[in-house]
Amino acid sequence: MEEQEKSLNFIEQIVEKDLAEGVNDGRIQTRFPPEPNGYLHIGHVKAICMDFGIAEKYNGVCNLRFDDTNPAKEDTEYVETIERDIAWLGFKWGKIFYASDYFQQLYDLAIRFIKAGKAYVDEQTAEQIAEQKGTPTEPGVASPFRDRPIEENLRLFEAMQRGEIEEGKMVLRAKIDMANPNMHFRDPIMYRIITSHPHHRTGRKWNVYPMYDFAHGQSDYFEGVTHSICTLEFEVHRPLYDYFLDQITGDNFCGLSPYGPDYRPKQREFNRLNITYTVMSKRKMLTLVKEGLVAGWDDPRMPTVCGLRRRGYTPQAIRTFMDKIGYTKVEGMIDQGLLEHVIREDLKETAPRVCAIFDPVKLVITNYEGDGETLVAENIDGHEELGTREMRFGKELWIERGDFLEEADNKFYRLSPGGREVRLKSSYIIQATGCEKDANGNITTVYATYDKDSKSGTEGGNRKTKATINWVECRSALDAEVRLYDRLFAVENPSADERDFRELLNPDSLKIVTAKVEASLKNAKMQDHFQLLKQGYFVVDDDSKPEHLVLNRTCSLKDNYLK
Ligand code: ATP
Ligand code: MG
Repeated sequence: MEEQEKSLNFIEQIVEKDLAEGVNDGRIQTRFPPEPNGYLHIGHVKAICMDFGIAEKYNGVCNLRFDDTNPAKEDTEYVETIERDIAWLGFKWGKIFYASDYFQQLYDLAIRFIKAGKAYVDEQTAEQIAEQKGTPTEPGVASPFRDRPIEENLRLFEAMQRGEIEEGKMVLRAKIDMANPNMHFRDPIMYRIITSHPHHRTGRKWNVYPMYDFAHGQSDYFEGVTHSICTLEFEVHRPLYDYFLDQITGDNFCGLSPYGPDYRPKQREFNRLNITYTVMSKRKMLTLVKEGLVAGWDDPRMPTVCGLRRRGYTPQAIRTFMDKIGYTKVEGMIDQGLLEHVIREDLKETAPRVCAIFDPVKLVITNYEGDGETLVAENIDGHEELGTREMRFGKELWIERGDFLEEADNKFYRLSPGGREVRLKSSYIIQATGCEKDANGNITTVYATYDKDSKSGTEGGNRKTKATINWVECRSALDAEVRLYDRLFAVENPSADERDFRELLNPDSLKIVTAKVEASLKNAKMQDHFQLLKQGYFVVDDDSKPEHLVLNRTCSLKDNYLK
């Protein structure tokens, strides 16, 4: 197939223009800046594909930076899982940084701001500060502490850092413009006190912590980031990002970047990823995990990277999905069916087919003699190059209960007494002759005869039947725990619903059955993918053991997306 020339997304266009103009001497540096307060989800992957993708494509570097400025919510556990998930996706970072690496520089900068009369300590409550913010059309009200003398601001800020001021009692605010139509300019908070939690890296060293707006742009700047790419909700923060940088670059250059006074990182924004029937918020995911509503962050129903992996998604499929949805400036909602479509298309090409019987009933082939035999079947029909597997055949087989009807009309093509021929997948043609029932009238055994000259792969194997059914030989069959996953939420957009999101969970998002599966699965390893014929695509779960096979349904066979 001919590779189609892909058009550039708008960020790539910006990068190519910058390269053509020699901006930053042609240096391309991005970063992925997760807050280590939860696991990565597929929304983050959209940002990861952008940040790492730009660096890969334009010979630049993408660093990993943990945005760890809120010790109350962050943990080393999250740092480790974030690194592991990015590596699993197949991306390589240059260096690992932490916003906490810059606490001293940021503190020193804050002192500079205070000394320059550009920051002050406010003693009002968060509520009072919020009340004074005004509205986009109405100017805000100045804090009574706004014009405190510089020395007093310095003394108080230092007292804040020494732990002498109670959490919540004071903040450091930038002194900018309480009437600015951009609300983010109305004296934004630069620093707050957090004494209740030690920091996962710096322990009790700091009692004041920088806010996002003050930390992010400066961190980009210290590192030499050229393109600081983030999601659209930060677009309104961009002027503030630039304002803070204006205070330390150009004429105000204070030597904090190795790249000189003219170097400036630039923030660029793209649309967030939202997907139907799920949530994309770490806070909500944490609630699901903490309240036991899912089995953990890596529950295969979760939209986390580790959940998707356990569900059977491959890094390649996830990246293909990101390519398909692309990057724009418009927020929207992506159909979960597209994600399922992409993994289905991926597995269609690669996953070996095997037989599994979910609701088994025994079939006895009355005219079969001998101890059984070993048949050979292609892993994927019509693709000899993808290998073959052995299937044990014998007198007693498991078949699906629904594949036999004692009395059937002529629209039913599968097994029923009365002379209709049915092929056993990759094997012989049989005809049902009758059945046996228990006291309640439930069928316990189906009887059939086979045609020994109809074996697949021989001349008789070419004989056509209207139906083919799956089977597993009884003596060699394995029991497998099969976890049938479905969408986590019952409503399309749980985030837009007035009800508590916990009430919107899909009660049928997990069903477990014990299936009879063919013996070739005996050596299946964790993360091996299969198509269970007629059932869907499945992956071997992390819980699986040689004596207890566990398979997760990745997706069904039916594709609703194209419709
Ligand atoms: P949450 O709101 O769930 O806590 P967050 O945006 O605060 O998520 P961060 O760890 O701060 O999470 O995000 C790291 C990066 O991932 C940011 O650049 C952010 O813009 C990006 N990101 C987060 N969620 C999405 C999403 N749904 N789509 C695209 N990018 C996202
Ligand atoms: Mg964030």
